[in-house]
Amino acid sequence: MLCYLKIIIMNDHSITKNLISDKKIAILGGGPGGLTLARLLQMNGADVKVYERDAHKDVRVQGATLDLHDESGLKALREAGLIDAFYDNYRPGADKLYVTDKNAVVVHNEDEDREDATSRPEIDRGPLRKILLDSLAPETVVWDSNFSSMEKIGEQWKITFKNTTSAMADIVIGADGANSKVRPFLTPIQPIYSGVTMVEGKVYDSETNAPQIHKLLNGGKIFALGDEKTLIISSKGDGSLVFYTGKKEEENWTHNSGINFSNKDEVRAWFEKEFIGWDPIWLELFEKCDPDFIPRPQYYMPLDQTWDAQPDLTLLGDAAHLMPPYAGEGVNMAMLDALELSQYLTSATFPDVHSAIQEYETIMRLRASQTTQMTLEQTDSLHSENAMENLINMFTE
Ligand SMILES: Cc1cc2nc3c(=O)[nH]c(=O)nc-3n(C[C@H](O)[C@H](O)[C@H](O)COP(=O)(O)OP(=O)(O)OC[C@H]3O[C@@H](n4cnc5c(N)ncnc54)[C@H](O)[C@@H]3O)c2cc1C
Repeated sequence: MLCYLKIIIMNDHSITKNLISDKKIAILGGGPGGLTLARLLQMNGADVKVYERDAHKDVRVQGATLDLHDESGLKALREAGLIDAFYDNYRPGADKLYVTDKNAVVVHNEDEDREDATSRPEIDRGPLRKILLDSLAPETVVWDSNFSSMEKIGEQWKITFKNTTSAMADIVIGADGANSKVRPFLTPIQPIYSGVTMVEGKVYDSETNAPQIHKLLNGGKIFALGDEKTLIISSKGDGSLVFYTGKKEEENWTHNSGINFSNKDEVRAWFEKEFIGWDPIWLELFEKCDPDFIPRPQYYMPLDQTWDAQPDLTLLGDAAHLMPPYAGEGVNMAMLDALELSQYLTSATFPDVHSAIQEYETIMRLRASQTTQMTLEQTDSLHSENAMENLINMFTE
């Protein structure tokens, strides 16, 4: 609380009347994008609420480690006055990357070859969320608010949640991630399947439960490549590890495979069959792991997507431009969207909110299109016959 007050006082000079001074803003979704936006808007005196589906802040374990980039994720945190909090919570050394072949032989050690080992510092998703939550005014986040629908009543939006509560807002921002329920109010454009499906798993206390892999990981990340498949493993600050297999599958493989993804024996049997010829060391991941695996077919938004800007509704992050995670850009893009949207909404350049949104969306879509293109190339490259050669060339050129 003291910390929050201090930050508000530090930034009080920047609060001037702007396009959103008299507006109630509803951000739907409290992921990194939505929370960053809430923070930046509050610094400019906005009346903002974040409506989040999770029942409370600790309801689920947050996923893997994220590397933040200087020109996007870190830039947003700097503007939000949270860069010191970031460096108090980031994980030095977590950016160590070991590229291995399918036999777990390290072919490239990114940490040794790089001059600046912290150019893309890593933070676990949980601490990042906590930093952002702690920076917000009390009661900003309304938990247990699973967006159901919304309708225009006069000049305002009436937003309804699954628990039958409702809220009114002048401006709505959809920050509700990959399967956004807000997005259809702006555009019918659907995501496209990338051709790759991931299976996500986790191992708590990896030192005890997967000791060989824990040692190989050395507090960093492993990219294991071979046979047009990937296995990405990431250590976490709480002693656990998360991993993602990546493999070309047909779009409905998750359902058609018949695998019960809550049965680790079934998932292990699938891995043994499909990753045949891979070193048995990888099987450690399926022995003393969490029994709940998550299949994740990877989608992206069309590169040429466009829509007419609305005067009081927009999107950011995955809701706007979902892409596979193979270039590590998703969270960085979401936070940069938040920064730019906050700047446009509080700028004196625009005559009204509509034109601010229009400009934001034009630039956001262009950037997202370029990043998605690059991400799709990386996704294809990592799941190609020449994956290892391509990745090493990328690091060394
Ligand atoms: C397996 C995996 C690994 C990844 N690794 C990386 C990586 O290393 N680096 C990287 O940059 N990106 C990575 N990403 C992508 C990254 O997670 C996303 O791009 C990023 O989280 C997008 O942020 P966001 O705020 O737009 O959405 P999200 O983080 O998805 O947040 C959306 C929020 O909205 C809430 N919500 C959803 N529906 C509703 C609703 N109906 N009502 C109210 N609230 C709702 C959710 O609970 C959530 O809190 C990865 C993604 C996956 C799946």
